[in-house]
Amino acid sequence: MKSLTEYLQFHVDTRRAFVNITGRVEDLVRESGIREGICLVNAMHITASVFINDDESGLHADYEDWLEQLAPHEPVSRYRHNRTGEDNGDAHLKRQVMGREVVVAVTDGRLDFGTWERIFYGEFDGRRSKRVLVKIIGE
Ligand code: ZN
Repeated sequence: MKSLTEYLQFHVDTRRAFVNITGRVEDLVRESGIREGICLVNAMHITASVFINDDESGLHADYEDWLEQLAPHEPVSRYRHNRTGEDNGDAHLKRQVMGREVVVAVTDGRLDFGTWERIFYGEFDGRRSKRVLVKIIGE
């Protein structure tokens, strides 16, 4: 069995953002030389997500509105978590909804996506450095 482990670095300049990381993961699949296997991609921070959906700006704006309705950033005093001195109570909840990781099959050396599937990094408490783990195993 072959494997490749890589840590992608992110530093988003805004509090929230969605970043298409499909190309970076595809590069790693190529680099791994794996033809048949599994690719795991997970956020290593509890205020960031990795998820799969459409690369469509209207949808991303809808996510932003929907998440902000579910867990508004303001007022920060509404979250017990923020009594610790943090202001990211909303970001932990948004991360939970959007998910920690994705697993994509590798078939014939490529990520085996549905037609519109793309991988995104979801940042909910940015302006600092964070990491995403990519692990590819197979042969
Ligand atoms: Zn926190």
